[in-house]
Amino acid sequence: AIDVQKLHKSFGDNEVLKGIDFHVDDGEVVCVIGPSGSGKSTLLRCINQLEVPTKGRVLVEGVDMTDPETDLNDVRSRIGMVFQSFNLFPHLTVTDNLTLAQRRVKKRSKADARRCALENLAKVGLEDKADAYPAHLSGGQQQRVAIARALSMEPDLMLFDEPTSALDPELVGDVLAVMKTLASDGMTMMVVTHEMGFAREVGDKLVFMDEGVIMEEGDPVEVLSNPQHERTQEFLSKVL
Ligand code: ATP
Ligand code: MG
Repeated sequence: AIDVQKLHKSFGDNEVLKGIDFHVDDGEVVCVIGPSGSGKSTLLRCINQLEVPTKGRVLVEGVDMTDPETDLNDVRSRIGMVFQSFNLFPHLTVTDNLTLAQRRVKKRSKADARRCALENLAKVGLEDKADAYPAHLSGGQQQRVAIARALSMEPDLMLFDEPTSALDPELVGDVLAVMKTLASDGMTMMVVTHEMGFAREVGDKLVFMDEGVIMEEGDPVEVLSNPQHERTQEFLSKVL
């Protein structure tokens, strides 16, 4: 579960998050939408402390991420993160991309790490690419490898920041299908996305952010079909 309480984040005198409160339950899928610059990525990055909040608290599985006593590396190893850019190591094969952090962080043996890697490659439909290099894969395949890599760490929850935004339209579906399977397997997920179909179909909750605040949140079908705020209506009229 994720608990965000009165979260503020400023860069210099630019206040980007202006008091965010929300909760993601275990097994819940929360989708976040909002205009460019509204603070969606900053919010995700504050959850695993890639950005240090200016004020407020973030609890992940009950652990206070903002407490200086917290072993961030330990908690971070339980949070999978998938970005718009896939960030695979180009000089490593797919399998080696998946075993690296398992070996270093989880101290797994080579054989155990490889077994786990192959299992997760199968989950994303890419067991036949185990020995390929990232450059020889399509963008959609690379993103599925990035998801498999995150899963190989056996995370308690997954954060996705526009995972399909860099993909050619015909490759988006495969990645969303993998995410949908993850969701139905019970993964706790927070997904920043422009894919309203995914949000409607897979999301348990939809959050609309604007200028550093949550303007509106609720059942995705409700928010998408009957937005309450003028800003939400305006945003949706542009993207739907
Ligand atoms: P997009 O949809 O374009 O990805 P976003 O909602 O994810 O936008 P953020 O990336 O969170 O928005 O950025 C919110 C604001 O914070 C922007 O004004 C941005 O310029 C600013 N910002 C983000 N990261 C930094 C940083 N490291 N240093 C300074 N300003 C930053
Ligand atoms: Mg962003």
